[in-house]
Amino acid sequence: MVLYEELQKTTQHLSRQRHPHQADAPILRAENLGLRYESGIALEDVTFALKIGERLAVVGPNGAGKSTLLKIIAGVLTPTEGQVHIYGNVPGGHICIAYVSQRSLVDWSFPVTVADVIMMGRVGQLGLFRNPKASDWDIVDQSLEIVGLTHLAKRQISQLSGGQQQRMFIARALAQEAELMLMDEPLSGLDVKSQEEVFRILDDLREDGVTVIVSLHDLKTAAQRFDQVMLLNQRMLGIGTSEGVLNPENLLAAYGGHLHLVPTEEGTLALGDTCCGDGQE
Ligand code: ADP
Ligand code: MG
Repeated sequence: MVLYEELQKTTQHLSRQRHPHQADAPILRAENLGLRYESGIALEDVTFALKIGERLAVVGPNGAGKSTLLKIIAGVLTPTEGQVHIYGNVPGGHICIAYVSQRSLVDWSFPVTVADVIMMGRVGQLGLFRNPKASDWDIVDQSLEIVGLTHLAKRQISQLSGGQQQRMFIARALAQEAELMLMDEPLSGLDVKSQEEVFRILDDLREDGVTVIVSLHDLKTAAQRFDQVMLLNQRMLGIGTSEGVLNPENLLAAYGGHLHLVPTEEGTLALGDTCCGDGQE
């Protein structure tokens, strides 16, 4: 039976990826990454490394290649140039990576509960043919508690607010015991309170040494809440502290005429990029 064989291959693939990690090695190393779609080049010559526990915001205008970069790191897309290594391995199926795509790409009518979705995060740990044990459900319960969704465990996923949906995906990543979490525009369409909840969870993750890469279109949030900022517009225009990277010269190179730079007491304020992947802002 072909499907059975496919599933077995996937399980073997996942278990092969498990290996001891070196504490001092960078968790992620990308070298000359590039990706060309049929429509043209989306990403070119992106080289960077991340240490364990760092929190990186990837910013840039619409179409800059942010989603493409996250998908390559997640192993969803294969780069056409260069390579990315997670603890020295190529990313495909690597068990320690959790990828949370833009919410608009999810089929919310799928008849599963919040707890079911979070248990899906355990599949990589369990292997596809083993039933969840009590200890797996304990991890699901703990993950629900961390993100404050215990009371909604049995609810169908379409009946969640935007903020609750985002927290559910974070819980799934927690249940997966991911060491690298990739989140594509997790704050888009969320109200300020829900955004704060996401950051509270990210702060907890930092204490556990989880490395986080988030794509954003809000430069101020990127500057205020992240250790490092990457400014992207097909090529990487800079990576490092927000002061170093989000300078007027780089911002103009990334956003061109779509950006207005306003001097304020706190420094230069960049206004103008209101684009948002799911069209909710
Ligand atoms: P961002 O997330 O920064 O908005 P994307 O990574 O989604 O940017 O897209 C980068 C570029 O690649 C854009 O020009 C976009 O139109 C193009 N692109 C994205 N996905 C595809 C695809 N599946 N096929 C062809 N072109 C694509
Ligand atoms: Mg995108």
